[in-house]
Amino acid sequence: MTEMGSTSSPRGSALLAHELQAPLAILRTRLERALDASWCKGEAESLVRACMEQARDMGQLIVDVLLLEKAEAKQLGGLREEVDLARLTPEVVKSLEPLAETKHLHIELKMETGLRVTGDPGQLKRLLANLVDNAIKYTGSGGKVEVEGRRVGTQVIVIVRDTGMGIPADELHRIFESFYQVDPERSRRESGCGLGLSVARALAETNEGSITVQSTPGKGSRFTFKMRLSR
Ligand code: ADP
Repeated sequence: MTEMGSTSSPRGSALLAHELQAPLAILRTRLERALDASWCKGEAESLVRACMEQARDMGQLIVDVLLLEKAEAKQLGGLREEVDLARLTPEVVKSLEPLAETKHLHIELKMETGLRVTGDPGQLKRLLANLVDNAIKYTGSGGKVEVEGRRVGTQVIVIVRDTGMGIPADELHRIFESFYQVDPERSRRESGCGLGLSVARALAETNEGSITVQSTPGKGSRFTFKMRLSR
């Protein structure tokens, strides 16, 4: 198994993202209006809904690019609250279970109790969701995803393990870069755009944590998120 820490720096297309915000907001408002129109029935309604979904994905992409820009400028703030990862992680897993079911994947959850850290609950949720979402995306039907949380000394670790396709050793150092994809064709099919891990890494660092990865091609991957226990 090859191991790699998250050390590369994100690149942002921040200016473009800023410029796209206004027209995208107008597009979304118009699509919502179209949905209320009397002619918007049957096939027309399906088309408008499909466009709305694409617009929503585009909006998320813009939010991610702007988040990475802020993180790069060390301006990404966050809450400093007590968060119990033993409670938050199962919520994340539950929200992704429907996606796992569509691929006939089983998610196994093993959490110790009382894994309290200090950080931003929304950011930590997003970070863990990106790791679990990837584990589901890059694991074939019938495979297994395991999410395990425990204490190690003064730290909490959450491990997301999968029995998926794995990542070649010479690609491991690049997967945390913005827009980097090992297999762009496969990622596109899985509706990825190469920002999930750079966002996860930026959020880990903002919360004074870290993410490392170990992987064996053809056997699976293991992403480990670490944070200091708050008590
Ligand atoms: P994407 O949106 O393409 O999934 P990410 O930034 O989340 O982008 O991940 C970057 C790349 O790392 C992916 O395109 C994929 O090739 C690889 N990757 C991430 N997680 C996994 C995993 N659990 N198993 C195999 N490959 C992975």
